[in-house]
Amino acid sequence: MAIKPRVIYWFRTDLRLHDSPALAAALDLKPECLWPIWCWDPHYVYRARVGPNRWQYLLDCQQDLSDSIARLNPKSRLHVLREAPQTLLPKLFKAWKVTHLVFEKDTDAYARSRDEEVMSSAREAGVQVIVKYGKTLWDPDAVVKANGNKPTMTISQLRHAGEKVGDIPRPIPAPKSIPDPGNMPLDFAQTQPAPEPDLNSIYRTRKENSYEKLAGPNGDFAVPTIEELGIKSATTPHRGGETGALAVLDNIIKNEQYTATFEKPKSAPTAFEPQSTTLLSPHLHFGSLSCREFYWRVQDVVDNFKGKASQPPVSLTGQLLFRDMYFAAQAKMGWKFSQTVGNDHCRFIPWHLRSKVDGPDGLVTGEYNIDSVEAEEWFQRWKTGRTGFPWIDAVMRQLKQEGWIHHLARHSVACFLTRGGCYIDWERGAEVFEEWLIDHETACNTGNWQWLSCTAFFSQFYRCYSPIAFPQKTDKNGDFVRHFVPELKDFPAKYIYEPWKAPIQDQRTAKCIIKGDGTVQTIDELPAYPKPMFDFSTRRDICIGGMKNAYRVGLYGNSPKVVNGSWPSAFDDDAEGTTDGKNISEQDTLEVETHRQIQTDTNSKADSLKPMNKNKRKGTGTLEGFLRPQKAMK
Ligand SMILES: Cc1cc2nc3c(=O)[nH]c(=O)nc-3n(C[C@H](O)[C@H](O)[C@H](O)COP(=O)(O)OP(=O)(O)OC[C@H]3O[C@@H](n4cnc5c(N)ncnc54)[C@H](O)[C@@H]3O)c2cc1C
Repeated sequence: MAIKPRVIYWFRTDLRLHDSPALAAALDLKPECLWPIWCWDPHYVYRARVGPNRWQYLLDCQQDLSDSIARLNPKSRLHVLREAPQTLLPKLFKAWKVTHLVFEKDTDAYARSRDEEVMSSAREAGVQVIVKYGKTLWDPDAVVKANGNKPTMTISQLRHAGEKVGDIPRPIPAPKSIPDPGNMPLDFAQTQPAPEPDLNSIYRTRKENSYEKLAGPNGDFAVPTIEELGIKSATTPHRGGETGALAVLDNIIKNEQYTATFEKPKSAPTAFEPQSTTLLSPHLHFGSLSCREFYWRVQDVVDNFKGKASQPPVSLTGQLLFRDMYFAAQAKMGWKFSQTVGNDHCRFIPWHLRSKVDGPDGLVTGEYNIDSVEAEEWFQRWKTGRTGFPWIDAVMRQLKQEGWIHHLARHSVACFLTRGGCYIDWERGAEVFEEWLIDHETACNTGNWQWLSCTAFFSQFYRCYSPIAFPQKTDKNGDFVRHFVPELKDFPAKYIYEPWKAPIQDQRTAKCIIKGDGTVQTIDELPAYPKPMFDFSTRRDICIGGMKNAYRVGLYGNSPKVVNGSWPSAFDDDAEGTTDGKNISEQDTLEVETHRQIQTDTNSKADSLKPMNKNKRKGTGTLEGFLRPQKAMK
C-alpha cells in the first residue's frame, strides 16, 4: 500500500494562508499529516541587522498565522522550532518520518545557499522537496532567463521579460481546512548556534536565550514574545499579520479613485497619520499579503474605472514592478548584488566610510574604514537625526521610531547621505535601513540605495534633493517636522526647515535654541536643536563634482583596480577618498564604454530636484580640487 504523504510545510517568506501556491501544493498531496513549522534561524537572530520593530512585526505575523491555522484545525498551529533549518530539518525528516518538504521559493542570496543545503539533506533522506514561487509577480529566475540571463536593470527590461514569462497568475483562495500535524518527537540533540558576532546585541535586554529549548520555554512550539526573546520593546505603531493586511487592502480597494489614479511622484512624503501611500510593504516583505492578491485587486479596479486611470510605472501596479525588478536583479547577482566590490553593475565611487572586504571571497565583512573623522561624525548625526536639517532629522527619527518612511523621504535621506551631501558609502545607509525598516527587503533596499546613490539603475547625479525646498512642496507649515522633531514645534513656518536663520529672539519665543551638534539637550534651560552640520549648497556642489569625476574615471565594482584595492591610482593624487581623476588606463576605458548605458526609467520624477549650481564654490576636505580642469564627462 502506498504511504500517505507526511508533509512538513516550512513557512518562511509567506506568513499567510491566502494565495500561497506552495501551501496549495502541500495540500494537493492530500497528506496524512501536515506540520506547519517555522525554524528560528540564527542567521537572522545574529547575523542580519534587525531592530525591535521588525522583530515585533514578525512575531505579529507569526501569531496571526498561527491563530488562523488553529481556526481551520484546532489541533494545529504554527510550530516554532528554535534551531537552524540546515541542522534541524535532517533530524526532523527522520524523527517524524517525513515524506515531503514544501516551501515557497526564496531567491535571496543567503536563502539560496541555505535551501541548497536543506534540499541536499532531503535528497539524502529520500524526502521529496516541492518549491513554488509566490513572493513576486513572476518567478525571478524565469525573469532573468527571459532577460537574456541578465539582471533586470530597468523597468522596461522587467516588463519585456515579464511579458515573455507569461501572465501574472491570479491569486488562489485560502484553504478551508488543514490536516492534523503528526506526532512531534524531539528525541535528538538540539544544535546550538554560534552567537558571535551578534549584530543585534544593542537591542538585547539580557543574554540571548531563544535557543535554550527546541520547542520554546513551555515546550509547546509557541510563537515567542518579544520579552521572551530578550529584545527591547518595539516603538512602531504598525502591526503585522495577514488579517490586518487584508483589511488594509480592502480599505484601499474600496477607494476606487485612490486605487485607480495613484501616482507615486504626486504622493506626499510629509503625510503621516495617515500616510499617502499604502504602507503594505512590510506585509509584502513577511508575506502576510500576497503581491498577486494586491496586484489583481488593484488591476480589477483599474479595469472597471470610468475615469482616467494612472499607468505603470507611477501607478500602484507599477510599484510592484519595481519590486520585481530588484528581485530579479538580485536573483541573478546573488551576494555581490548587495555590495560594491565585485559587483559588475555597481559603479565605484570613492565614498567615505567604505566597507571592509574579506580577501578570499571578496564579500563585505560588516565593518567599514573610517577614512575621515568628519564623515564618521556626519554619518552618526545622520543616523541619529541630529544633522541640523529638520527634514532629514524628522525622517530619520520617524524611521527609528516607527520603522517605515515614505518612498520619497527615503530618496531624500539616501541622496543626502551619499551623492547629495555627505559623500558617504551607500552601504552604510543600507545597513541603517536594514536595522530599522520593518519592510527591510535585501533586494529592494540594496537596489534602491544603488539607484539613489547613482551607482546603478539611475545615473542623473546632478539632480539632488534639497532638504529645504523639497519638503516645502507638500508641507509648507512643517507639520511633519513639528511631529517628529518636537523641539521645533513652535517655530514659525518660515524658519521650520531652516531654523538656524531665525533671529535669537524668535528662537527664544519658539522655546528652542539652535546651537551645537545635537549632543547638548538644553541651552539656558531651553531645548536645543543643532546647527546644520554643513552648508548644503556647498556640499551638494562638492558631491556633484566628485560624482562627475568618478563617472569619468568609470570604475565598476568588478574593475580590477577596485577588486585589488589599487583604485586610488586611477584618481589624480593617489589619495584615498579623492575623486580628482587622472588619465585612466585602456582597460578601464573599455569598462567605461561597456557600462555607459544611461538609465531613464524612474518611478519618482523628483520634480523639485535642484540642478547643479553653476556658480560652484571651492570644495573642502577629501574632495578638494574637483574644480581643477577636467576632461569633459563622456
Ligand atoms: C533608499 C531606499 C531603500 C528602500 N528599501 C526598501 C526595503 O528595504 N523594502 C521595501 O519593500 N522597499 C524599499 N524601498 C522602496 C519603497 O520606498 C518602499 O517599498 C515603499 O516606500 C513602501 O511603502 P508603501 O508600501 O506605502 O509603497 P506603495 O507606494 O504603496 O507601493 C506598493 C508596493 O510596491 C512596492 N514598491 C514601491 N516602490 C518600490 C520601490 N522603489 N522598490 C521596490 N518596491 C517598491 C512595495 O512593495 C510597496 O509596498 C526603498 C526605497 C529607497 C529609496
